Amino acid sequence: MNHVFPRHCHASLPTAKSGDGCFIIDTHGKRYFDGSGGAAVSCLGHSNQRITDAIKAQVDSLAFAHTGFFTSDTAEELADLLIANAPGDIDRVYFVSGGSEAVEAAIKLARQYHLENGQPERRHLIARRQSYHGNTLGALSAGGNEWRRRQFAPLLVEMSHISACYEYAERSKGESLYDYGQRAANELESEILRLGPETVMAFIAEPIVGATLGAVPPVDGYYRRIREICDEYGVLLILDEVMCGMGRTGNLFACDAEDVSPDILCIAKGLGGGYQPIGAMLCTKQIYESISNGSGFFQHGHTYLGHPVATAAGLAVVRELLDHGMVAQAHQRGIHLEQQLRTKFAQNPHVGDIRGRGMFWGIEFVANRETKQPFDPALGLAGKLKKSAFEHGLICYPMPGTRDGKNGDHVLLAPPFIATEDELDGALDLLSRAIADVIPT
Ligand code: PLP
Repeated sequence: MNHVFPRHCHASLPTAKSGDGCFIIDTHGKRYFDGSGGAAVSCLGHSNQRITDAIKAQVDSLAFAHTGFFTSDTAEELADLLIANAPGDIDRVYFVSGGSEAVEAAIKLARQYHLENGQPERRHLIARRQSYHGNTLGALSAGGNEWRRRQFAPLLVEMSHISACYEYAERSKGESLYDYGQRAANELESEILRLGPETVMAFIAEPIVGATLGAVPPVDGYYRRIREICDEYGVLLILDEVMCGMGRTGNLFACDAEDVSPDILCIAKGLGGGYQPIGAMLCTKQIYESISNGSGFFQHGHTYLGHPVATAAGLAVVRELLDHGMVAQAHQRGIHLEQQLRTKFAQNPHVGDIRGRGMFWGIEFVANRETKQPFDPALGLAGKLKKSAFEHGLICYPMPGTRDGKNGDHVLLAPPFIATEDELDGALDLLSRAIADVIPT
């Protein structure tokens, strides 16, 4: 008898028992290399003593104090540390328990900001196709993945979706990377004009698209043009770095590499590194002050905002990232990972594209490399790849529907930054075996 409501009702899962660096060990003693950090969560592996000590120390002194009554040292220190390293004018941190909550808070803050500024007609959120922003109804409404949205469509809030910046599939023949990026970004302007600029409140995007596209970075100039358009029309720029942030791409914040800073920024996953569930919504001084000088409070909240144990874990994680050089290591190891990915897979006739940054990489599979034609979705390739890799002892994150929610397959890799070069090479060997099992050449 079991009573847990699992993700998949008919899957039979091993029981995870312990963690050792980059490995998870099940109750039979089998070791799995965590090549995707779960879903880009476990940036520091599974047995970091400084983080577990920080959590224990916090529980020993105080497990919980409601933020309606108290602040905590760990929340204050973590916010200071994040802001000291945050892009642009980002100045305030609103701690939540995960990525979807961070996105919900961002959407509601954008709306309240415009209300407080006397622009109540600003209500439209523009997002992108093939994005993922979470599974709560607001975040799912923003997300652009058809498969995830379809059955809940009658419940979703109406939002607009423009194209992603996905040059492998969407750049025209003969078009330069730069021109493609400007064309993709200019879709935002067209959509703002279509909706009426005075009615648009914000644009949300993942700087590097994770789960639904497989680690797709933007082309150069795309985000600078996006920022320009947002500024021109008074539209807030929300960057969702839940998956790609916190050092994953070799910068603490992924947007640092794009030379833009957002008005609102969402982080989660790597912020707690899996040691605690924690996320955060960060905003600029200007947004904060318009609330602070206006109604004086953000009309939002959850019981576990700024949980002291979660913020203790987050503080220990961010100290590892910054003081113990783990962001720099993600950059360094990422160079090796990219080289090895290209060496091992670039010649495979069914590998269409290898893309990513730092310790965040995707491989997109195609039936035909010349035409970029995806495999028949009926083959269930991504699911088979996940199963085979897991049997070989590799946790990775394959996903179908890369192109349009239905067609296309990719695998996402997001290993812990502590992985050694040998461990990464070993993981790619396991991935090769899984690919050979599932896509014979
Ligand atoms: N935003 C992005 C970019 C994500 O990748 C995810 C999760 O994969 C979320 C939001 C939702 O985060 P959570 O699953 O913690 O609610």
